[in-house]
Amino acid sequence: MKKIILKPKRDVSIKRFHPWVFSGAVATKDDDLKDGDLVEVYSSREEYLATGHFQDSSIQVRVISFEETEADYDFWLKRVATAFQFRQQNELPSSDTNCYRLIHAEGDLCSGLIVDIYNEVAVIQCHSVGMHLQRELISKALLEVLDGKITAIYDKSKKALPSIYGDRVHDSFLHGEAEQQKVSEHGHLFYVNFVKGQKTGFFLDQRENRKLLSSYAKGKRVLNAFCYTGGFSVYALKAGAELVHSVDLSEKATSLTDENIALNGLDLDKHKSYTRDVLEFLQKAETEYDLMIVDPPAYAKHQSKRHKAVQGYKRINAMAMKKIAPGGILFTFSCSKVIDRELFQNTMVAAALEAGRHVRILQYLSQPADHAPSVFHPEGSYLKGLVLCVE
Ligand code: SAH
Repeated sequence: MKKIILKPKRDVSIKRFHPWVFSGAVATKDDDLKDGDLVEVYSSREEYLATGHFQDSSIQVRVISFEETEADYDFWLKRVATAFQFRQQNELPSSDTNCYRLIHAEGDLCSGLIVDIYNEVAVIQCHSVGMHLQRELISKALLEVLDGKITAIYDKSKKALPSIYGDRVHDSFLHGEAEQQKVSEHGHLFYVNFVKGQKTGFFLDQRENRKLLSSYAKGKRVLNAFCYTGGFSVYALKAGAELVHSVDLSEKATSLTDENIALNGLDLDKHKSYTRDVLEFLQKAETEYDLMIVDPPAYAKHQSKRHKAVQGYKRINAMAMKKIAPGGILFTFSCSKVIDRELFQNTMVAAALEAGRHVRILQYLSQPADHAPSVFHPEGSYLKGLVLCVE
């Protein structure tokens, strides 16, 4: 097997099971090593440390095992079976939920791989060339483990892969074929279009936060800002909200929101979608909302954009806090990996100061069990949320 040898003392993090090897830690590597190769990582004293996929970028190796392996079919079968068992222990799927994340990259010792299940369809998203080269084996393992539970596997990796490789591949079915799926999440119904939708089609990571919103929504005037396909809107209306306004910049998203409201047989007169920029919408808003959800896209994907992202979160939340009714409840989120919980909370302090409102923290929110991060990989805890009471 091809080899990478680390510089002296640069084995500390991998010995603590952190699954990424950065370029600065690498002393030597085999000359014929190319993107996507399976590679073994050794310390400067030539001790075996881990096996992973090589890529010539700042993360040079994404580790898939801390024990020697050739990553054959049995290896993937075990990874998928273990991941499925973990979901089953956490009641996924269940009688009222048939959409969930089956493989959450590093959390499942599969750095570079996401697998989401939407009813009868599995959507694979590879973030590394090495993982993409393994997609046929992974598909075979999925079919074996989910025996009879899925009819199609769709590979949606093109945009997630490094462009030099991604430009040459196409998203396609690896097994069977299927149309847009109708899924159920805690008994709430949604259309998921995994081909045309954002990410793999749906934001599964908000499942438990949406459920929590139900308990706050009865009789409230609700604004779902950055609504995508209306996840929080459906929960709010079903829980008895007085009215719900859903806002997203994408026309596709707001029209799917309308379809999802109708799909659940909810009162269409109580809901309205707006295809607008959230900040602009808030500035001009005439309705006084009692409950707001602010769930923007990741404002920062790299450390270098962190400062600008903080300003973005501050601006949007300060505006929400200014506009919300006295005693209003704000569900606010950040899914940027480079903004940790402390920084996010401090940003809310700055927003509250700017809004001139007294703000209290009612609850700390996070990601659900099917997105559980590894303790050795703090970057995996990306979703942070707060339930705030704005007086
Ligand atoms: N809360 C959603 C997920 C939000 S994803 C859910 O539960 O499914 C973020 C959404 O923000 C995307 O749909 C994107 O189209 C939208 N968006 C991005 N920038 C925006 C802006 N400036 N104004 C309004 N929507 C925006």
